[in-house]
Amino acid sequence: MTIGDFERELSEQRVEQEKDAAIAAARAALTGPGLAHCEDCDRPISEARRQALPSATRCVVCQDLHEIDKRKATKWTRQ
Ligand SMILES: [Zn+2]
Repeated sequence: MTIGDFERELSEQRVEQEKDAAIAAARAALTGPGLAHCEDCDRPISEARRQALPSATRCVVCQDLHEIDKRKATKWTRQ
């Protein structure tokens, strides 16, 4: 492999990364902040919830269930 090959490979990687970033940005512009669908039940997450909590990845119901599970898990590990 020559230095030229190496540089070409590097710039190809950069193009790929830029493409990924552009796709992610386009997706974010389409769906707004946060995930459009709950990662657990796949139901749409309301826009109000996404705007209030852009980091939300679950709908209110699944988030509640998840929090309860987490609390249970903590309790179990403490025993
Ligand atoms: Zn859900």
